[in-house]
Amino acid sequence: MADDPTSGTPNWSFETRQIHAGQEPDPTTGARALPIYQTTSYVFKDTEHAANLFALKEFGNIYTRIMNPTQDAVEQRIASLEGGVGALLVASGQAAETLAILNVAEAGDHVVASPSLYGGTYNLLKHTLPKFGLEVTFVDDPADPESWRAAVRPNTKLFFGETISNPKIEILDIEAVAAVAHEAGVPLIVDNTVATPYVLRPLEHGADIVVHSATKYLGGHGTTIAGVIVDGGTFDFGKDPEKFPNFNTPEESYHGLVFARDLGVGGALGANLAYILKARVQLLRDLGPAVAPFNAFLIAQGIETLSLRIDRHLENTRAVAEFLQGHEQVESVRWASLPGDDNYELAQKYTPKGSGAVLAFEIAGGVDAGRTFVESLRLHSHVANLGDVRSLAIHPATTTHSQGPDSDRLAAGVTPGLVRLAVGIEHIDDILADLEQGFTAAKGA
Ligand SMILES: *Cc1c(COP(=O)(O)O)cnc(C)c1O
Repeated sequence: MADDPTSGTPNWSFETRQIHAGQEPDPTTGARALPIYQTTSYVFKDTEHAANLFALKEFGNIYTRIMNPTQDAVEQRIASLEGGVGALLVASGQAAETLAILNVAEAGDHVVASPSLYGGTYNLLKHTLPKFGLEVTFVDDPADPESWRAAVRPNTKLFFGETISNPKIEILDIEAVAAVAHEAGVPLIVDNTVATPYVLRPLEHGADIVVHSATKYLGGHGTTIAGVIVDGGTFDFGKDPEKFPNFNTPEESYHGLVFARDLGVGGALGANLAYILKARVQLLRDLGPAVAPFNAFLIAQGIETLSLRIDRHLENTRAVAEFLQGHEQVESVRWASLPGDDNYELAQKYTPKGSGAVLAFEIAGGVDAGRTFVESLRLHSHVANLGDVRSLAIHPATTTHSQGPDSDRLAAGVTPGLVRLAVGIEHIDDILADLEQGFTAAKGA
């Protein structure tokens, strides 16, 4: 299964692994492309085999809620691309965020998070997880390590941030924040959706766990909702048994298995798989947000061309950022790889290829100009999404961030004339021409 550390691939480059990691021709049929194993269940050899599988004495397929061969190939591929020891593919990015957090923290525990988050993740941390008894502190200034340190409490169990946030396009100083997390004895979990592992591999900078909305660039075509958790295998949950009792006390539903002891650093698997196996065999089993095999297949199709698409996304984004910077109706542009941007130094360090294909700008004329601009675009689709081959545009103040008070909106960086673009891979001339006619329309607003 995905978490078998012996199933590694040769020392291939990223571009080769995005096509080959985790998959070989199907042993039964010879099929070269990844088969869609559209089955709910798998035949046991005998009762002993079944008993061993259920007790985790042997790894193998039981039921598609917890594992499936199509899903397994995608998990191994993403783990390889991020440089992790294992991965878990689930039904959505939000399911991935939820399981990643609940795998470490429960009622009575405390989470420290950046306030610069995707709206769904912000709502999860701000409203839904507190209803389950988790406490969450949003740090005042995510760019300042001291701000993270000041938020730590005795019951803090994890740090959470996004490697590239939007619409603010801030780059998380992963090394600095990971150092504070480790000093506090807790893991750093990061959402790497906007960057993708082609642009940034957070595990190489000290993050412990990576989460993606695979719906975005990994799938890449705006067809499929899915999410993934990747475990770096770096955080030892066995080191502080009092802080992490769920990793260090016998799990009754698995005959007294102790995750950190049996599946962790000193366990029999040769790699620290305690976190990612616990997420699968406990939380995915019990909460149930399983990915459909067909959706896993579509994500695999996307990943095969990830580097090609991202190169083109970034080339187009740079051209759009420069066009906007020179435009008389633009008051400011946010793209961290643009010289002069507040995050430029961090972008050079963490995302030297370019700080993702999402950018934002403030249009002159405020709310009305922003709304008119977005409504008059023709090539750009007006949708609440990113990471599609198609160019997308949205006016956050009247859409994604229209609920909630002004103060929340401004804290998230959503000013009245802010327009967010997710730059696609069409021809750049067509993208720029569409934006120009949007500006012409907005002038009259
Ligand atoms: C879209 C997104 C999510 C949520 O993912 P879904 O697949 O829509 O559930 C989480 N984080 C970021 C950064 C996203 O862009």
